[in-house]
Amino acid sequence: MAKRTKKVGSVGRFQARYGVRARTITRNIETIQKGRQDCPKCGYKKVKRISTGIWQCKKCGVKYTGGAYIPETESGQNAEKMLKGEFEFPDVSSEEPKEAESKGGKK
Ligand SMILES: [Zn+2]
Repeated sequence: MAKRTKKVGSVGRFQARYGVRARTITRNIETIQKGRQDCPKCGYKKVKRISTGIWQCKKCGVKYTGGAYIPETESGQNAEKMLKGEFEFPDVSSEEPKEAESKGGKK
């Protein structure tokens, strides 16, 4: 069967509505959301989204939480690093001394 929506993919259902930009953003998310992802436990590309933030592997059956639309988000990775103690707060520690220096310079 010939592929019907080569260019627009899953957002073909919107036809010409909502604008190109909004449809492109939606498509980028939906391709990950609806497709199969790599399993963190067994490595097979069998993970599917069950519900918002819930992902399950169809191969080994492992069920885990992740991002709402993608299995792993950047903020989720940072949260895990913090729990492991690897993450140090770069924004807080680097910005505070600079503010003190600039205040001192004005005086
Ligand atoms: Zn698995």
